[in-house]
Amino acid sequence: MKMKKNSPLKHYSSPEQSRGQPVLSSDRPLPRGAKCNRCRGQAEVHLPSHHANFCPDCFIHFVRTAVIRALKEVNFQPRPLMVAVSGGKDSLAVWDLLHQLGYQTKGLHINLGISGFSEASSQAVDDFASSRGLEWSEYCLEDVFGYSIPEVHRLLRGKTCSLCGRLKRAFFNRLTVREGFNTLVTGHNLDDEAGRLLGNLVGKRLEHVYKQYPYLPSPHPLIPAKLKPLYRLEIKELLAYCRLKNITPVQKICSYSRGATSHTFKQALDFLEDSMPGTKRSFLFSYLRDSQLKDRLACEQDGEGQRDRKTEYGLCQECGCPAYAHRCGICSLRQRLGDKEKSKQQRSELKRQHLCLEEQK
Ligand code: SF4
Ligand SMILES: [Zn+2]
Ligand SMILES: [Zn+2]
Repeated sequence: MKMKKNSPLKHYSSPEQSRGQPVLSSDRPLPRGAKCNRCRGQAEVHLPSHHANFCPDCFIHFVRTAVIRALKEVNFQPRPLMVAVSGGKDSLAVWDLLHQLGYQTKGLHINLGISGFSEASSQAVDDFASSRGLEWSEYCLEDVFGYSIPEVHRLLRGKTCSLCGRLKRAFFNRLTVREGFNTLVTGHNLDDEAGRLLGNLVGKRLEHVYKQYPYLPSPHPLIPAKLKPLYRLEIKELLAYCRLKNITPVQKICSYSRGATSHTFKQALDFLEDSMPGTKRSFLFSYLRDSQLKDRLACEQDGEGQRDRKTEYGLCQECGCPAYAHRCGICSLRQRLGDKEKSKQQRSELKRQHLCLEEQK
């Protein structure tokens, strides 16, 4: 665990510098005289899905209001929050917003060991946190799991992103509890949630559809509750927010980030959104308003569902974390990687012996 020191922000323009430039429509600049819908000043931000224009200050007010509304809709009761921070725009924006709204927060970053990308991600978190005096912890995946992402990729090629996602989910949960928090915040935005919903519907994974809610209570004392305060905000809105608030997300792209199917679903929704602004949000919100979903959630918050779900869990005999079998998914994955490593070593040893024999002939 560590806390880091102040260092200056780089790369992004200040709110003053970006004034006079449209934030969201660089391809279609807002004309001089375009009015802010809230204060009637010069608008700089155009939001097609809301049929609205805002000046920078009113846009920031709009973003804050979206988060306040999100927290109100899930009936969130204030408590200390652990924020999962990757160093990307969403996680830094949600941390900034919760801090501004007066919540007690701490950042949690997992260093994946990806050369270039992980150092830059860690630096982005450091720059953000130190300039605001915020506390954060950093853990290396290799220390807590035994393997970094490049090692996972070397041993089990082909599924790196899905394994990385699984590892991050598991360790964000475990480390949140280890640090003494019971609620984990993630920066999932409207595009993420709508894309995921579409993917689950296309794949007919209805049990996932019903679990896709911006607040999920803790199902077990060793698993934190999950909160997604950005689910009402689009990617472009968050990019604009970061620009106006002088937040500098990591600029590097992970070298394993090709071909995730979630991108395809997001692109499909972007296509619809381009010709019918507002489609994405009405698609997602119509499911979130679903009364059946809300009823299930209410049961869990009352503790009814809690009891049932808790009994489903045992504890992993190796690491002591909640698990459905005698060994949790993370320990099984570690075992699989260990087996793979051993068989690779055996193969290369056999190859070496074979080459020696060839040379002796
Ligand atoms: S792109 Fe894939 S491997 Fe890279 S950080 Fe994201 S999920 Fe992990
Ligand atoms: Zn305004
Ligand atoms: Zn385990």
